[in-house]
Amino acid sequence: MYGKYQQFLQNELASIEQAGLFKRERNIASPQSAEITLEDGSKALNFCANNYLGLADNPRLIKAAQDVMATRGYGMSSVRFICGTQDIHKQLEKAISDYFHTEDTILYAACFDANGGVFEPLFTAEDAIISDSLNHASIIDGVRLCKAVRYRYANADMADLERCLQEAQAQRYRIIVTDGVFSMDGNVAPMDKICDLAEKYDALVMVDESHSAGVVGATGHGVAEQYGCYGRIDIHTGTLGKAFGGAVGGFTTGRKEIIDMLRQRSRPYLFSNSIPPMIAAAALETFKILDESNELHDKLQANVDYFREKMVAAGFDIKPTQSAICAVMLYDAPLSQKFAAKIAEEGIFVTGFYYPVVPKGQARIRVQLSAAHEQAHLDKAIAAFIKVGKELGVIK
Ligand SMILES: *Cc1c(COP(=O)(O)O)cnc(C)c1O
Repeated sequence: MYGKYQQFLQNELASIEQAGLFKRERNIASPQSAEITLEDGSKALNFCANNYLGLADNPRLIKAAQDVMATRGYGMSSVRFICGTQDIHKQLEKAISDYFHTEDTILYAACFDANGGVFEPLFTAEDAIISDSLNHASIIDGVRLCKAVRYRYANADMADLERCLQEAQAQRYRIIVTDGVFSMDGNVAPMDKICDLAEKYDALVMVDESHSAGVVGATGHGVAEQYGCYGRIDIHTGTLGKAFGGAVGGFTTGRKEIIDMLRQRSRPYLFSNSIPPMIAAAALETFKILDESNELHDKLQANVDYFREKMVAAGFDIKPTQSAICAVMLYDAPLSQKFAAKIAEEGIFVTGFYYPVVPKGQARIRVQLSAAHEQAHLDKAIAAFIKVGKELGVIK
């Protein structure tokens, strides 16, 4: 039985390989950090993790995770509503609500689940979902699971969003959905303008803060802080897997009745396990750290500014990032792969992206800055960029 299907898969895999799109993993044998050790003992500087605040190996988070296992155990062996809720899960939901200035929060095993479980319980075929064309795969999948009428607007294009809103007046309720920070260009969704249009055309607003929370805004509290939109965004989704410690876990936070309804009807919440106590405890410690001082966010911001300034001075073409994502434009797909491979030989890990992940002719190297980076790490990466850039004729 398997033979013919095996042949089919082998052919498919070979064509992925031929297209240069085959994904390979790097086996790390150290904690996730600015400097990592690989399985073969070699070291590298990591500029492709979502470890924005450098918390992935933070001793306070590790200790919180270890300590809680003595009092709350290892796993919950249950979904939330049956017997999977501890005091610390409720405390974490409260901490997230406080952080985003929202009314209530519901935890998920991942933000992928938060997005997968947010639309179907709230909207029907009578309603409209208006989605940015560059939204994350999990939003796209979540929208697919819902019967609402779909509209798509060009990335952060307010005229196109307005067109969608006008067309969507045909539906009962409307919701605008956007990523807070778009992961390929590092640009921030213009939340103030989105909220203005939502008011004008009677729509709800949802933002996925996965790449923006902990990063954008004067103290890193996300897009509502950055654009002064507190109280105007109905739903935020986010992850505990990026700035907030980097382990795993997701959440939806926002209006009380929306969260109440998700607790009744959201399928990934009803039919998938609770996050384990160690994650809840470490995440609580994360929000405590962020509440105590803005040091990590300040350092991240200083690192982003430093890196961008030096790279522009060296002659690189950098997208005008507003986040911790810095796109070094190369435009040519094979060049982006060659560049990523050569700079890896210099001990710098970055990711080369090209079509179909980004538009044709828009190939690039994506650099992700972190509060874990010290200036020496940044200087080493910049020197490697300059060396490889000259070798490959990208800069003079
Ligand atoms: C990373 C990411 C997710 C998925 O988060 P997980 O918690 O890892 O599932 C969802 N949305 C956006 C915009 C992301 O960047």
